[in-house]
Amino acid sequence: MDCRSLREAVSSAFSSDVSKVMRQVSENVFEFSEVAFKEEKSAEYLASLMESNGFSVERACYGIPTSFKAEIRGKGPGPSVAILAEYDALPKIGHACGHNLIAAAGVGAALALKQVIGHVGGRVVLFGTPAEEAGGGKVMLVDRGAFDGFDAALIAHPANHTCIASRSLAWEPIRMTFRGKNAHAGAVPHKGVNALNAVIETFNSINALRQHVTPDVRIHGIITKGGDAVNVVPSLTEANFLVRAASVDVMSEVAEKVRNCARGAALATGTTVEFEQTGPVYEPIKGNEPLEKALAGNFAKLGIEFSLGGDATNMGSTDVGNVSQVIPTVHPMYKICEKEIVGHTPEFAEASCSEDGFQCTVKVAEALALTSLDLLCDEPLMAEVKAAF
Ligand SMILES: [Zn+2]
Ligand SMILES: [Zn+2]
Repeated sequence: MDCRSLREAVSSAFSSDVSKVMRQVSENVFEFSEVAFKEEKSAEYLASLMESNGFSVERACYGIPTSFKAEIRGKGPGPSVAILAEYDALPKIGHACGHNLIAAAGVGAALALKQVIGHVGGRVVLFGTPAEEAGGGKVMLVDRGAFDGFDAALIAHPANHTCIASRSLAWEPIRMTFRGKNAHAGAVPHKGVNALNAVIETFNSINALRQHVTPDVRIHGIITKGGDAVNVVPSLTEANFLVRAASVDVMSEVAEKVRNCARGAALATGTTVEFEQTGPVYEPIKGNEPLEKALAGNFAKLGIEFSLGGDATNMGSTDVGNVSQVIPTVHPMYKICEKEIVGHTPEFAEASCSEDGFQCTVKVAEALALTSLDLLCDEPLMAEVKAAF
């Protein structure tokens, strides 16, 4: 089969069976709505599904219970293409980041490629990558060598806009624990050491720090322990922060200033402070122009409207960034509804289970599959992608 007929075979897979399976995947994963590292049902469901479709499946790979790897091989040697599936939800608001659609797109692309893999060399692996919202499943996979020997990775994320070359911010999660001394807040407040004041002063100092950081920096926190009773001077408080920036260097520099804000607050209030890094550092997405161009070409052929670059003022963080630092990776964002919606809201969750959202996902999955096929059969393209990396 020539390249053109292979592309036709991939596309026609979406007009029938593959999109039916994708719909089930999207609906089921949406329903399971499991948070980071607790995606037992989702991971098992997806692993069994791939197995029943003839993929060779490894569950709980690289020591991560809710990960999986589903592989299909071509007729001989060739590139190794990784398609990444996410399936974790957010606490309380469920699939408000649309990872059910990411799972559906990943499964769809892998199943469509199965139709043609026998005619080309190489392999396609659907990676079940848990815990994107917290904990960094992909960082663990990267660190444990899961992507060694792979030539490229592809994933698409639902959004309120469509752009091919999306970028992300590095992040470091920091927990601060302050310790003071309890006392009767009415009778003998002077005997207490107020650990809540330390948290409040930390927020105030960070707010002053904001004036002196570059526009890419984001510092946001919540108070997770603020005291137990209003008439007791709090002796133990805790706050969780995320420090983000466009590069790991800037992020690290600002993170140290944030810790200094807390140290200063501890000194001022007579408390002690301890820090804990509650998860791995997410690295920023490293782009790959030839890969992005190849994907853009397929978006255009499928009639998907897009912009090439993203909006530098509207960036989240993702553990896909860490993958992109070790192999060429493309991570487009795509619009799932006409309304102006924001991620991590109930409205976004609604769009993630809407018919429009699903139909957009089928198109994008087709573009991911076609681009993977391009990588598998177009040697000069693969060479360019590698050279750009
Ligand atoms: Zn997400
Ligand atoms: Zn998210």
